[in-house]
Amino acid sequence: MLDLKNYVASIPDYPEKGIVFRDISPLMADGEAYRQATDKIFQFAKDKGVDMIVGPEARGFIIGCPVAYDLGVGFAPARKKGKLPRETVMSEYDLEYGTSALYMHKDAIKPGQKVLVCDDLLATGGTIQATIDLVEQLGGEVVGCAFLIELEDLKGRDKIKGYDVLALMQY
Ligand code: 5GP
Repeated sequence: MLDLKNYVASIPDYPEKGIVFRDISPLMADGEAYRQATDKIFQFAKDKGVDMIVGPEARGFIIGCPVAYDLGVGFAPARKKGKLPRETVMSEYDLEYGTSALYMHKDAIKPGQKVLVCDDLLATGGTIQATIDLVEQLGGEVVGCAFLIELEDLKGRDKIKGYDVLALMQY
């Protein structure tokens, strides 16, 4: 078993002074570490009857797609404004300054489908909350949320109380 924290680079003062950015590029660049991380999420998800995986742009794709492949289910992206060509649903969320929004195609999830949402990192929880909201607007049931990293001080878990949450590393 690898210690996955050895594959996360901590970058002080990025993107702003006072923030320590947790960079998962070294983990993605190492085949064994990447496999171990996505396999742990597969183990978490495999008995949940998952029909679809949903991940927010862009690092949610990097985590969600290999897990979807392993489970033998589909993947649907939650994307920023203007990226999806057909009819969409939208969910807004707060940023430090202002708001942002995520979108999904209206037919991305069928009502009743069980969905695992995946992202690289849980910080304030705004991104995952918006992703969950999109799935639920479409009638999907969120059966779990999986992350590589959780920034505990930012208390994102408080926003997703009641959901089954897996985070592989805590900072
Ligand atoms: P939240 O919405 O929970 O505050 O922020 C989480 C989102 O921002 C995730 O989609 C994640 O990709 C991105 N993010 C915020 N901080 C970091 C960080 O330190 N490292 C990485 N890799 N992503 C971050």
